[in-house]
Amino acid sequence: MLKNDQLDQWDRDNFFHPSTHLAQHARGESPNRIVTGGSGVHIEDRDGNRLLDAFAGLYCVNVGYGRSEIAEAIAAQAKELAYYHAYVGHGTEASITLAKMVVERAPDNMSKVYFGLGGSDANETNIKLVWYYNNILGRPGKKKIISRWRGYHGSGLMTGSLTGLELFHKKFDLPLAQVLHTEAPYYYRRADLTMSEEAFSAHCAAELEALIEREGADTIAAFIGEPLLGTGGIVPPPAGYWEAIQAVLDKHDILLIADEVVTGFGRLGTMFGSTHYGIRPDIITIAKGLTSAYAPLSGSIVSDKVWAVLEKGTDENGPIGHGWTYSAHPIGAAAGVANLKLIDSLNLVSNAGETGAYFNAAMKDAIGGHAHVGDVRGEGMMCAVEFIEGKDERRYFDSARKIGPAVSAALLERGVIGRAMPQGDILGFAPPLCLSRAEADEVVGKTADVVKAVLG
Ligand code: PLP
Repeated sequence: MLKNDQLDQWDRDNFFHPSTHLAQHARGESPNRIVTGGSGVHIEDRDGNRLLDAFAGLYCVNVGYGRSEIAEAIAAQAKELAYYHAYVGHGTEASITLAKMVVERAPDNMSKVYFGLGGSDANETNIKLVWYYNNILGRPGKKKIISRWRGYHGSGLMTGSLTGLELFHKKFDLPLAQVLHTEAPYYYRRADLTMSEEAFSAHCAAELEALIEREGADTIAAFIGEPLLGTGGIVPPPAGYWEAIQAVLDKHDILLIADEVVTGFGRLGTMFGSTHYGIRPDIITIAKGLTSAYAPLSGSIVSDKVWAVLEKGTDENGPIGHGWTYSAHPIGAAAGVANLKLIDSLNLVSNAGETGAYFNAAMKDAIGGHAHVGDVRGEGMMCAVEFIEGKDERRYFDSARKIGPAVSAALLERGVIGRAMPQGDILGFAPPLCLSRAEADEVVGKTADVVKAVLG
Protein backbone atom coordinates (compact mmCIF):
# COMPACT_ATOMS: atom_id res chain seq x y z
CA MET A 1 0.00 0.00 0.00
CA LEU A 2 1.31 3.38 -1.02
CA LYS A 3 2.06 5.50 2.05
CA ASN A 4 3.00 8.69 0.37
CA ASP A 5 2.85 11.85 2.38
CA GLN A 6 1.99 13.75 -0.76
CA LEU A 7 -1.06 11.63 -1.58
CA ASP A 8 -3.39 14.15 0.03
CA GLN A 9 -1.87 17.00 -1.96
CA TRP A 10 -1.95 15.00 -5.20
CA ASP A 11 -5.65 14.40 -4.53
CA ARG A 12 -6.36 18.11 -4.06
CA ASP A 13 -4.25 19.06 -7.10
CA ASN A 14 -5.34 16.50 -9.68
CA PHE A 15 -8.49 14.59 -8.88
CA PHE A 16 -11.90 15.88 -10.08
CA HIS A 17 -14.27 14.13 -7.68
CA PRO A 18 -17.94 13.49 -8.47
CA SER A 19 -20.64 15.08 -6.31
CA THR A 20 -18.11 17.17 -4.42
CA HIS A 21 -17.74 20.87 -3.57
CA LEU A 22 -14.88 21.29 -6.04
CA ALA A 23 -13.53 24.60 -4.76
CA GLN A 24 -13.51 23.60 -1.10
CA HIS A 25 -11.88 20.30 -1.91
CA ALA A 26 -9.17 21.88 -4.06
CA ARG A 27 -8.44 24.46 -1.34
CA GLY A 28 -8.24 21.76 1.31
CA GLU A 29 -11.21 23.16 3.26
CA SER A 30 -13.30 19.99 3.23
CA PRO A 31 -12.31 16.59 4.59
CA ASN A 32 -11.23 13.81 2.29
CA ARG A 33 -10.76 10.15 3.01
CA ILE A 34 -8.32 7.78 1.38
CA VAL A 35 -9.85 4.34 1.64
CA THR A 36 -7.43 1.45 1.80
CA GLY A 37 -9.35 -1.73 2.57
CA GLY A 38 -12.56 -3.41 3.57
CA SER A 39 -13.93 -6.59 5.06
CA GLY A 40 -17.57 -7.58 5.65
CA VAL A 41 -19.48 -4.40 6.51
CA HIS A 42 -16.34 -2.40 7.42
CA ILE A 43 -13.95 -0.19 5.49
CA GLU A 44 -10.56 1.06 6.59
CA ASP A 45 -8.78 4.26 5.70
CA ARG A 46 -5.20 5.40 5.48
CA ASP A 47 -5.39 7.06 8.90
CA GLY A 48 -6.20 3.75 10.56
CA ASN A 49 -9.96 4.31 11.03
CA ARG A 50 -12.25 1.30 10.79
CA LEU A 51 -15.79 2.34 9.89
CA LEU A 52 -19.04 0.37 9.74
CA ASP A 53 -20.34 1.22 6.28
CA ALA A 54 -24.08 1.28 6.78
CA PHE A 55 -24.56 2.58 3.22
CA ALA A 56 -22.63 -0.20 1.43
CA GLY A 57 -20.61 2.35 -0.55
CA LEU A 58 -23.42 3.86 -2.61
CA TYR A 59 -25.91 1.08 -1.80
CA CYS A 60 -23.92 -1.25 -3.97
CA VAL A 61 -21.50 -3.47 -2.03
CA ASN A 62 -24.32 -5.89 -1.32
CA VAL A 63 -22.25 -8.97 -0.45
CA GLY A 64 -19.92 -6.90 1.74
CA TYR A 65 -16.24 -6.06 1.29
CA GLY A 66 -13.32 -8.41 0.81
CA ARG A 67 -15.05 -11.40 -0.78
CA SER A 68 -12.22 -13.46 -2.19
CA GLU A 69 -14.59 -15.59 -4.33
CA ILE A 70 -15.33 -12.55 -6.50
CA ALA A 71 -11.74 -11.27 -6.48
CA GLU A 72 -10.52 -14.67 -7.66
CA ALA A 73 -13.15 -14.89 -10.41
CA ILE A 74 -12.04 -11.46 -11.65
CA ALA A 75 -8.36 -12.45 -11.58
CA ALA A 76 -9.02 -15.74 -13.39
CA GLN A 77 -11.01 -13.94 -16.10
CA ALA A 78 -8.34 -11.25 -16.50
CA LYS A 79 -5.67 -13.89 -16.97
CA GLU A 80 -7.68 -16.00 -19.38
CA LEU A 81 -9.27 -13.23 -21.44
CA ALA A 82 -9.38 -9.67 -20.14
CA TYR A 83 -11.44 -8.34 -23.01
CA TYR A 84 -13.34 -9.14 -26.08
CA HIS A 85 -16.31 -7.16 -27.37
CA ALA A 86 -19.90 -8.32 -27.60
CA TYR A 87 -20.74 -6.79 -31.00
CA VAL A 88 -22.15 -8.86 -33.90
CA GLY A 89 -22.92 -11.89 -31.79
CA HIS A 90 -19.67 -12.21 -29.84
CA GLY A 91 -19.71 -13.31 -26.23
CA THR A 92 -17.69 -15.00 -23.51
CA GLU A 93 -18.57 -17.84 -21.21
CA ALA A 94 -18.95 -15.30 -18.38
CA SER A 95 -21.26 -12.90 -20.25
CA ILE A 96 -23.48 -15.67 -21.61
CA THR A 97 -23.69 -17.41 -18.23
CA LEU A 98 -24.50 -14.14 -16.48
CA ALA A 99 -27.24 -13.31 -18.99
CA LYS A 100 -28.86 -16.66 -18.24
CA MET A 101 -28.55 -16.14 -14.47
CA VAL A 102 -30.10 -12.66 -14.69
CA VAL A 103 -33.05 -13.71 -16.85
CA GLU A 104 -33.69 -16.74 -14.59
CA ARG A 105 -33.89 -14.45 -11.55
CA ALA A 106 -36.00 -11.73 -13.24
CA PRO A 107 -39.82 -11.65 -13.35
CA ASP A 108 -41.35 -14.27 -15.70
CA ASN A 109 -42.14 -11.96 -18.61
CA MET A 110 -38.50 -10.87 -19.04
CA SER A 111 -36.72 -12.04 -22.17
CA LYS A 112 -33.13 -10.73 -22.69
CA VAL A 113 -30.53 -8.57 -20.99
CA TYR A 114 -28.31 -5.91 -22.60
CA PHE A 115 -25.21 -5.21 -20.50
CA GLY A 116 -23.76 -1.73 -19.93
CA LEU A 117 -21.41 -0.29 -17.32
CA GLY A 118 -23.41 1.72 -14.79
CA GLY A 119 -26.95 2.67 -13.90
CA SER A 120 -26.88 5.94 -15.86
CA ASP A 121 -25.86 4.37 -19.15
CA ALA A 122 -28.38 1.54 -18.66
CA ASN A 123 -31.17 4.10 -18.35
CA GLU A 124 -29.87 5.95 -21.44
CA THR A 125 -30.11 2.60 -23.26
CA ASN A 126 -33.66 2.13 -21.98
CA ILE A 127 -34.86 5.45 -23.32
CA LYS A 128 -33.29 4.75 -26.71
CA LEU A 129 -34.97 1.35 -26.78
CA VAL A 130 -38.33 2.92 -25.96
CA TRP A 131 -37.93 5.46 -28.77
CA TYR A 132 -36.84 2.75 -31.21
CA TYR A 133 -39.84 0.65 -30.10
CA ASN A 134 -42.32 3.39 -30.89
CA ASN A 135 -40.69 4.20 -34.22
CA ILE A 136 -40.91 0.54 -35.23
CA LEU A 137 -44.56 0.51 -34.18
CA GLY A 138 -45.18 3.55 -36.43
CA ARG A 139 -45.79 5.96 -33.51
CA PRO A 140 -43.02 8.54 -34.01
CA GLY A 141 -44.81 11.14 -31.86
CA LYS A 142 -44.97 8.92 -28.77
CA LYS A 143 -41.63 9.89 -27.21
CA LYS A 144 -41.93 11.81 -23.94
CA ILE A 145 -40.83 10.16 -20.74
CA ILE A 146 -42.45 10.75 -17.35
CA SER A 147 -40.47 10.36 -14.13
CA ARG A 148 -41.23 11.44 -10.58
CA TRP A 149 -39.99 14.40 -8.60
CA ARG A 150 -37.33 13.02 -6.25
CA GLY A 151 -36.71 10.02 -8.52
CA TYR A 152 -33.04 9.23 -9.21
CA HIS A 153 -32.06 7.69 -12.52
CA GLY A 154 -28.51 8.87 -13.12
CA SER A 155 -26.65 12.01 -14.06
CA GLY A 156 -26.21 11.90 -17.84
CA LEU A 157 -28.07 14.27 -20.16
CA MET A 158 -31.22 12.19 -20.41
CA THR A 159 -30.86 10.40 -17.08
CA GLY A 160 -29.99 13.61 -15.22
CA SER A 161 -33.20 15.00 -16.74
CA LEU A 162 -35.17 12.00 -15.50
CA THR A 163 -33.70 12.49 -12.04
CA GLY A 164 -36.12 14.72 -10.17
CA LEU A 165 -33.69 16.41 -7.77
CA GLU A 166 -32.84 20.08 -8.04
CA LEU A 167 -29.09 19.67 -7.57
CA PHE A 168 -28.82 17.56 -10.71
CA HIS A 169 -30.59 20.14 -12.90
CA LYS A 170 -29.32 23.47 -11.58
CA LYS A 171 -26.90 25.21 -13.99
CA PHE A 172 -26.83 22.19 -16.32
CA ASP A 173 -29.73 23.31 -18.55
CA LEU A 174 -31.68 20.22 -17.53
CA PRO A 175 -34.22 18.70 -17.72
CA LEU A 176 -34.36 18.20 -21.49
CA ALA A 177 -37.67 18.98 -23.15
CA GLN A 178 -38.73 15.34 -23.67
CA VAL A 179 -38.86 14.72 -19.93
CA LEU A 180 -41.85 15.47 -17.67
CA HIS A 181 -42.07 15.05 -13.90
CA THR A 182 -45.02 14.02 -11.79
CA GLU A 183 -45.86 13.81 -8.08
CA ALA A 184 -43.38 12.04 -5.80
CA PRO A 185 -44.92 9.06 -3.95
CA TYR A 186 -43.78 10.60 -0.69
CA TYR A 187 -46.63 10.18 1.74
CA TYR A 188 -44.90 11.78 4.73
CA ARG A 189 -44.00 15.03 2.97
CA ARG A 190 -46.62 15.37 0.29
CA ALA A 191 -49.91 14.10 1.74
CA ASP A 192 -52.32 16.25 3.76
CA LEU A 193 -52.16 15.37 7.44
CA THR A 194 -55.66 13.90 7.24
CA MET A 195 -55.15 11.85 4.06
CA SER A 196 -54.88 8.02 4.14
CA GLU A 197 -52.05 6.32 2.22
CA GLU A 198 -54.59 4.90 -0.22
CA ALA A 199 -56.09 8.35 -0.84
CA PHE A 200 -52.60 9.76 -1.44
CA SER A 201 -51.85 6.94 -3.93
CA ALA A 202 -55.08 7.77 -5.74
CA HIS A 203 -53.98 11.43 -5.79
CA CYS A 204 -50.60 10.45 -7.34
CA ALA A 205 -52.35 8.35 -10.00
CA ALA A 206 -54.78 11.21 -10.73
CA GLU A 207 -51.88 13.67 -11.08
CA LEU A 208 -50.19 11.27 -13.50
CA GLU A 209 -53.34 10.85 -15.54
CA ALA A 210 -53.97 14.60 -15.65
CA LEU A 211 -50.42 15.12 -16.97
CA ILE A 212 -50.90 12.43 -19.62
CA GLU A 213 -54.17 13.97 -20.71
CA ARG A 214 -52.69 17.48 -20.83
CA GLU A 215 -49.80 16.33 -23.02
CA GLY A 216 -51.79 13.73 -25.01
CA ALA A 217 -51.23 9.99 -24.46
CA ASP A 218 -50.03 9.70 -28.04
CA THR A 219 -46.96 11.80 -27.07
CA ILE A 220 -45.97 9.79 -23.97
CA ALA A 221 -43.75 6.74 -24.44
CA ALA A 222 -42.81 5.58 -20.95
CA PHE A 223 -42.93 6.11 -17.22
CA ILE A 224 -39.81 5.39 -15.17
CA GLY A 225 -39.71 4.83 -11.42
CA GLU A 226 -37.74 3.12 -8.70
CA PRO A 227 -39.90 0.55 -6.87
CA LEU A 228 -38.91 2.39 -3.67
CA LEU A 229 -37.65 5.99 -4.00
CA GLY A 230 -33.93 5.81 -3.16
CA THR A 231 -31.75 8.89 -3.37
CA GLY A 232 -34.87 11.07 -3.17
CA GLY A 233 -35.25 10.08 0.50
CA ILE A 234 -35.56 6.27 0.88
CA VAL A 235 -39.33 6.27 0.71
CA PRO A 236 -41.36 3.06 0.35
CA PRO A 237 -44.43 3.56 -1.87
CA PRO A 238 -47.71 4.31 -0.09
CA ALA A 239 -50.33 1.52 0.03
CA GLY A 240 -51.91 0.86 -3.37
CA TYR A 241 -49.49 3.15 -5.23
CA TRP A 242 -48.11 0.81 -7.87
CA GLU A 243 -51.48 -0.77 -8.59
CA ALA A 244 -52.99 2.67 -9.21
CA ILE A 245 -50.06 3.88 -11.35
CA GLN A 246 -49.95 0.68 -13.37
CA ALA A 247 -53.68 0.98 -14.19
CA VAL A 248 -53.15 4.50 -15.62
CA LEU A 249 -50.16 3.37 -17.70
CA ASP A 250 -52.02 0.33 -19.07
CA LYS A 251 -55.01 2.49 -19.98
CA HIS A 252 -52.84 4.87 -22.02
CA ASP A 253 -50.50 2.26 -23.54
CA ILE A 254 -47.41 3.67 -21.83
CA LEU A 255 -44.40 1.46 -21.12
CA LEU A 256 -43.15 1.05 -17.56
CA ILE A 257 -39.43 1.06 -16.78
CA ALA A 258 -38.66 -0.19 -13.27
CA ASP A 259 -35.34 1.28 -12.22
CA GLU A 260 -34.01 -1.49 -9.98
CA VAL A 261 -30.43 -0.24 -9.82
CA VAL A 262 -30.73 -0.18 -6.02
CA THR A 263 -33.49 -2.73 -5.42
CA GLY A 264 -32.35 -5.45 -7.87
CA PHE A 265 -30.78 -8.62 -6.46
CA GLY A 266 -32.17 -8.67 -2.98
CA ARG A 267 -32.05 -5.32 -1.20
CA LEU A 268 -35.76 -5.36 -0.30
CA GLY A 269 -35.69 -9.00 0.79
CA THR A 270 -36.90 -10.25 -2.61
CA MET A 271 -34.76 -10.79 -5.69
CA PHE A 272 -36.44 -7.82 -7.45
CA GLY A 273 -38.41 -4.87 -6.08
CA SER A 274 -40.93 -5.32 -8.91
CA THR A 275 -41.96 -8.68 -7.50
CA HIS A 276 -41.97 -7.20 -4.00
CA TYR A 277 -44.57 -4.60 -4.93
CA GLY A 278 -46.45 -6.47 -7.70
CA ILE A 279 -45.11 -4.18 -10.45
CA ARG A 280 -45.25 -5.52 -14.03
CA PRO A 281 -42.48 -3.63 -15.86
CA ASP A 282 -41.67 -3.72 -19.57
CA ILE A 283 -37.99 -2.95 -18.94
CA ILE A 284 -35.91 -3.30 -15.76
CA THR A 285 -32.69 -1.38 -15.06
CA ILE A 286 -30.04 -3.20 -13.03
CA ALA A 287 -26.54 -2.24 -11.89
CA LYS A 288 -25.05 -1.98 -8.37
CA GLY A 289 -26.18 -5.34 -6.86
CA LEU A 290 -25.42 -7.18 -10.12
CA THR A 291 -21.72 -7.31 -9.23
CA SER A 292 -21.91 -5.83 -5.72
CA ALA A 293 -19.70 -3.14 -7.31
CA TYR A 294 -16.67 -5.45 -7.51
CA ALA A 295 -16.53 -4.38 -11.18
CA PRO A 296 -18.65 -1.88 -13.15
CA LEU A 297 -21.57 -3.57 -14.89
CA SER A 298 -25.21 -2.71 -15.52
CA GLY A 299 -28.05 -4.10 -17.54
CA SER A 300 -31.34 -3.40 -19.27
CA ILE A 301 -33.66 -6.39 -19.01
CA VAL A 302 -36.32 -6.26 -21.70
CA SER A 303 -39.65 -8.06 -21.65
CA ASP A 304 -41.00 -10.45 -24.29
CA LYS A 305 -43.31 -7.67 -25.50
CA VAL A 306 -40.47 -5.19 -26.08
CA TRP A 307 -38.11 -7.81 -27.45
CA ALA A 308 -40.61 -8.87 -30.15
CA VAL A 309 -40.66 -5.28 -31.46
CA LEU A 310 -36.85 -4.94 -31.31
CA GLU A 311 -36.51 -8.11 -33.39
CA LYS A 312 -39.02 -6.74 -35.91
CA GLY A 313 -36.95 -3.54 -35.99
CA THR A 314 -33.75 -5.30 -36.95
CA ASP A 315 -35.56 -7.41 -39.55
CA GLU A 316 -36.70 -4.16 -41.13
CA ASN A 317 -33.58 -2.01 -40.55
CA GLY A 318 -30.59 -4.22 -40.00
CA PRO A 319 -28.43 -4.52 -36.87
CA ILE A 320 -29.41 -2.29 -33.96
CA GLY A 321 -27.27 0.86 -33.88
CA HIS A 322 -26.51 0.77 -30.18
CA GLY A 323 -23.56 -0.56 -28.21
CA TRP A 324 -20.60 0.39 -26.04
CA THR A 325 -17.03 -0.90 -26.39
CA TYR A 326 -17.31 -2.27 -22.88
CA SER A 327 -20.84 -3.76 -23.12
CA ALA A 328 -20.79 -7.14 -21.32
CA HIS A 329 -17.13 -6.69 -20.36
CA PRO A 330 -15.82 -10.15 -19.43
CA ILE A 331 -14.30 -8.97 -16.14
CA GLY A 332 -17.57 -7.39 -15.03
CA ALA A 333 -19.46 -10.48 -16.18
CA ALA A 334 -17.14 -12.81 -14.24
CA ALA A 335 -17.66 -10.63 -11.15
CA GLY A 336 -21.43 -10.80 -11.73
CA VAL A 337 -21.50 -14.60 -11.96
CA ALA A 338 -19.44 -15.00 -8.78
CA ASN A 339 -21.52 -12.36 -7.00
CA LEU A 340 -24.90 -13.92 -7.84
CA LYS A 341 -23.61 -17.33 -6.73
CA LEU A 342 -22.49 -15.80 -3.44
CA ILE A 343 -25.85 -14.08 -2.89
CA ASP A 344 -27.49 -17.52 -3.24
CA SER A 345 -25.01 -19.50 -1.16
CA LEU A 346 -25.03 -16.99 1.71
CA ASN A 347 -28.85 -16.59 1.60
CA LEU A 348 -28.42 -12.86 1.42
CA VAL A 349 -31.86 -12.15 -0.02
CA SER A 350 -33.54 -13.68 3.03
CA ASN A 351 -31.06 -12.00 5.35
CA ALA A 352 -31.92 -8.64 3.75
CA GLY A 353 -35.60 -9.31 4.51
CA GLU A 354 -35.14 -10.67 8.03
CA THR A 355 -32.26 -8.62 9.42
CA GLY A 356 -33.56 -5.62 7.48
CA ALA A 357 -36.95 -5.89 9.26
CA TYR A 358 -35.14 -6.25 12.60
CA PHE A 359 -32.98 -3.20 11.82
CA ASN A 360 -35.96 -1.05 10.80
CA ALA A 361 -38.00 -2.06 13.85
CA ALA A 362 -35.07 -1.44 16.21
CA MET A 363 -34.46 2.00 14.69
CA LYS A 364 -38.12 2.93 15.11
CA ASP A 365 -38.12 1.70 18.72
CA ALA A 366 -34.94 3.57 19.57
CA ILE A 367 -35.69 6.99 18.10
CA GLY A 368 -39.22 7.05 16.65
CA GLY A 369 -40.50 8.90 19.73
CA HIS A 370 -37.86 11.68 19.66
CA ALA A 371 -39.36 15.16 19.33
CA HIS A 372 -37.33 15.91 16.18
CA VAL A 373 -37.65 12.54 14.46
CA GLY A 374 -40.65 12.88 12.18
CA ASP A 375 -40.48 9.57 10.38
CA VAL A 376 -38.54 6.31 10.50
CA ARG A 377 -39.29 4.26 7.40
CA GLY A 378 -37.80 1.55 5.28
CA GLU A 379 -38.09 -1.85 3.71
CA GLY A 380 -35.62 -4.73 3.66
CA MET A 381 -32.07 -3.44 4.02
CA MET A 382 -33.04 0.23 3.55
CA CYS A 383 -33.97 2.63 6.30
CA ALA A 384 -34.38 6.41 6.58
CA VAL A 385 -34.76 8.75 9.49
CA GLU A 386 -36.33 12.11 8.68
CA PHE A 387 -35.71 15.00 11.04
CA ILE A 388 -38.23 17.74 11.62
CA GLU A 389 -38.40 20.91 13.68
CA GLY A 390 -42.08 20.85 14.65
CA LYS A 391 -43.42 17.32 14.66
CA ASP A 392 -47.14 17.97 15.19
CA GLU A 393 -47.54 20.71 12.60
CA ARG A 394 -44.92 19.06 10.34
CA ARG A 395 -42.62 22.07 10.19
CA TYR A 396 -39.27 21.30 8.54
CA PHE A 397 -35.90 22.62 9.64
CA ASP A 398 -34.50 25.48 7.60
CA SER A 399 -32.26 23.68 5.07
CA ALA A 400 -29.46 26.20 5.78
CA ARG A 401 -29.07 24.60 9.23
CA LYS A 402 -27.96 21.38 7.51
CA ILE A 403 -29.32 19.13 10.24
CA GLY A 404 -29.06 15.95 8.12
CA PRO A 405 -25.35 16.48 7.34
CA ALA A 406 -24.66 17.39 11.01
CA VAL A 407 -26.19 14.11 12.21
CA SER A 408 -24.34 12.02 9.63
CA ALA A 409 -21.03 13.77 10.46
CA ALA A 410 -21.55 13.06 14.18
CA LEU A 411 -22.33 9.43 13.38
CA LEU A 412 -19.15 9.17 11.33
CA GLU A 413 -17.17 10.39 14.35
CA ARG A 414 -18.57 7.37 16.18
CA GLY A 415 -17.42 5.04 13.41
CA VAL A 416 -20.63 4.50 11.43
CA ILE A 417 -21.31 5.66 7.86
CA GLY A 418 -24.88 6.78 7.15
CA ARG A 419 -25.74 9.10 4.27
CA ALA A 420 -27.26 12.56 4.50
CA MET A 421 -29.68 12.29 1.58
CA PRO A 422 -29.42 15.21 -0.85
CA GLN A 423 -32.84 16.85 -0.49
CA GLY A 424 -34.20 17.27 3.06
CA ASP A 425 -32.87 16.43 6.52
CA ILE A 426 -32.87 12.70 6.00
CA LEU A 427 -30.33 10.19 7.27
CA GLY A 428 -30.25 7.12 5.05
CA PHE A 429 -29.02 3.59 5.65
CA ALA A 430 -28.57 0.82 3.11
CA PRO A 431 -26.05 -1.59 4.63
CA PRO A 432 -24.55 -4.61 2.91
CA LEU A 433 -27.09 -7.44 2.77
CA CYS A 434 -24.85 -9.53 5.06
CA LEU A 435 -25.40 -7.19 8.04
CA SER A 436 -25.79 -9.16 11.29
CA ARG A 437 -28.18 -8.33 14.13
CA ALA A 438 -25.26 -7.29 16.32
CA GLU A 439 -24.07 -4.88 13.61
CA ALA A 440 -27.64 -3.58 13.20
CA ASP A 441 -27.73 -2.97 16.97
CA GLU A 442 -24.48 -1.01 16.75
CA VAL A 443 -25.84 1.23 13.98
CA VAL A 444 -29.09 1.82 15.86
CA GLY A 445 -27.37 2.45 19.21
CA LYS A 446 -24.94 4.96 17.75
CA THR A 447 -27.68 6.68 15.74
CA ALA A 448 -29.73 7.09 18.93
CA ASP A 449 -26.70 8.60 20.73
CA VAL A 450 -26.05 10.99 17.89
CA VAL A 451 -29.66 12.13 17.54
CA LYS A 452 -29.60 12.99 21.25
CA ALA A 453 -26.25 14.74 20.97
CA VAL A 454 -27.20 16.86 17.94
CA LEU A 455 -30.91 17.46 18.53
CA GLY A 456 -31.25 17.19 22.30
N1 PLP B 1 -30.79 4.52 -10.95
C1 PLP B 1 -30.86 4.49 -9.61
C2 PLP B 1 -32.14 4.08 -8.95
C3 PLP B 1 -29.75 4.84 -8.83
O1 PLP B 1 -29.84 4.86 -7.49
C4 PLP B 1 -28.56 5.19 -9.49
C5 PLP B 1 -27.36 5.55 -8.71
O2 PLP B 1 -27.40 5.71 -7.51
C6 PLP B 1 -28.54 5.23 -10.88
C7 PLP B 1 -29.67 4.87 -11.59
C8 PLP B 1 -27.32 5.66 -11.63
O3 PLP B 1 -26.36 4.70 -11.53
P1 PLP B 1 -24.80 5.08 -11.80
O4 PLP B 1 -24.40 5.98 -10.71
O5 PLP B 1 -24.14 3.72 -11.76
O6 PLP B 1 -24.73 5.68 -13.14
